[in-house]
Amino acid sequence: MKHILLYSLFLGLLLASCGTTKNTAKDLAAANPIESNIDITKVDKDKIPVQVDPGRFSKDTIVFRLPRVVQGTYAVSDFGSFIDDFKALDYEGNELRFEKKDVNTWIIYEAKKLDKITYWVNDTFDIEGGDQPTPFSPSGTNIESDNYVLNLHGFVGYFDSLKANSYVINVTAPIEFDRTSALLMVEENISDDGKYVTTRYKAERYFDVTDNPMMYGKLDVEEFQVGDIKIVLSVYSPNNEHSVKTLKETIFKMMQAQKAYLGETNSTKRYDIYVYLAGHSNGSPKGFGALEHHTSTVVVMPESMSQESLESSLIDIVSHEFFHILTPLSVHSEDVHYFDYDQPTFSEHLWMYEGLTEYFATLFQVNQGLVSEDQFYTKLLEKINTASTLDDTMSFTEMSKNILDKPYADNYFNVYQKGALIGMCLDIIIREESQGQRGILSVMKELAVKYGVDKPFEDEMIIDEIVKMTYPSVATFFKDHVVGGTPIDYNLYFAKVGLGMNDGKVETNYVQNAGKMIIRGDRQTGSIMFNDEVIDNSFWKESGAQANDKIKEINGVTLSRENANSVFGEVFGWKPGTEINVLLERGGEDIRIEKILTPTYTTGKKLSLNPDATTDQKSLLNAWLKG
Ligand SMILES: [Zn+2]
Repeated sequence: MKHILLYSLFLGLLLASCGTTKNTAKDLAAANPIESNIDITKVDKDKIPVQVDPGRFSKDTIVFRLPRVVQGTYAVSDFGSFIDDFKALDYEGNELRFEKKDVNTWIIYEAKKLDKITYWVNDTFDIEGGDQPTPFSPSGTNIESDNYVLNLHGFVGYFDSLKANSYVINVTAPIEFDRTSALLMVEENISDDGKYVTTRYKAERYFDVTDNPMMYGKLDVEEFQVGDIKIVLSVYSPNNEHSVKTLKETIFKMMQAQKAYLGETNSTKRYDIYVYLAGHSNGSPKGFGALEHHTSTVVVMPESMSQESLESSLIDIVSHEFFHILTPLSVHSEDVHYFDYDQPTFSEHLWMYEGLTEYFATLFQVNQGLVSEDQFYTKLLEKINTASTLDDTMSFTEMSKNILDKPYADNYFNVYQKGALIGMCLDIIIREESQGQRGILSVMKELAVKYGVDKPFEDEMIIDEIVKMTYPSVATFFKDHVVGGTPIDYNLYFAKVGLGMNDGKVETNYVQNAGKMIIRGDRQTGSIMFNDEVIDNSFWKESGAQANDKIKEINGVTLSRENANSVFGEVFGWKPGTEINVLLERGGEDIRIEKILTPTYTTGKKLSLNPDATTDQKSLLNAWLKG
């Protein structure tokens, strides 16, 4: 997954009926698909009725759960907390006795009589940003009159004893709704009055239920080919500010570049991209970013972003999700492969799953000419700066293993920063040792051939294995900087490719100084203010902003704890030339800044080619960036 930007504001400090009793062996639960119904036409008070109908159980007690954690998120979601009015019914329609053991778990007694389970599901988008921890929005659910984000793990639960069973999922919706699904469709049935359609989907096992999201409602959907991959792009933009038409070209170019960079690795025939654009209303999601699946990704971004900044964010985000095809989707440990949705164990290798993925998503853009070398260097320095605000002495493997717990959880954001930089250093070391012939991508491709989607590696063995495939200097790097907590001196690695860091004037954005936030949130009062960094951001400084100025209003929107991430997600994408209107408060007095944005600069490090770089250094640089 990828969380963008605002970890440090609030989030990251924040972030068919069965008839009567049956008794033949044929209808035993273990031998039958679990039939589930999700009925969008019966939504009541923002809740959808769901029915889960397994075959017959031969045991007296069974356990039913909604996921506590879903794959790719590295945080507790507690989907059970969104379930109301749970009922276990026997074949005569009588309620069976059950016990709610914890927020995600129901124990059903007299299970031999169990016909089906029914409950109502609340959506997660509505309450995101409140005091209760909620699922990261790209893994969450949305129920509103014209849009349904069906991350199915939020609707359909599982029986502990039947995780390997196949599922049939029937979704009933108004006939005029657009529908897109990464899950295999079996058939469609239109109701007698012609008003509703029930689509029948099939999932091989519970994993496929969680791995294949759907979107229903008023959508803009288009399919197009990129080589041999069919891309299905579904966009929901509540105020029609963006559409498939305006975003398609960007996605097309990006996917083409990714395929060119990856080479032969990818075998996906269809890839679904779901883009949910959030408005400013109270029920809008607040966590922006995306979550990867094997053949799809769900992206949630603020709708108010300009076309240009939405495009560049989509390139960063969707490419990151697509590169997950390599890891963890094709190269992963047993913890990932045999994932426990209730009490998962975590692999030590987030440096690989998230770090390398983020690194590839950054590097391929310069490799394929989507960004200039200078733009690439700027991104690397932003990552170095952001990483410096997190714990630079924390062992990455230890953090990864304990990612749900403190203090590790608070450093999760570093997987996209230092994690990516770990990937960069490994890449440069391998390029140097192989005279430019190999890099971390080729090593990962070798691992993908050896392991692949169906064969996990042993968690404790993979670093040794990579070392055996490569060089002793790789072992030293892992020991010191991935397993060990020694901070990395990036200059050493830049020097190998003839780059040097110099102080200079660096162009930045209006929320950060080259990766360092210039605003902070007060958790107690929910107010947001500039911090000490603001005077080193030329636009704000010239506009008279000062540290501790409270930011009350941006372009007519009054800031609150609830909308802060969405509003600053928009500010993050501001481009010079745009007219802005900001209301600040200093010592009880209002100060209004009404201006046209000019490019903004901060003082910081700049990475550039050393004038004395040798031919060897230059050719290594070329192998690293363009190899
Ligand atoms: Zn990711």
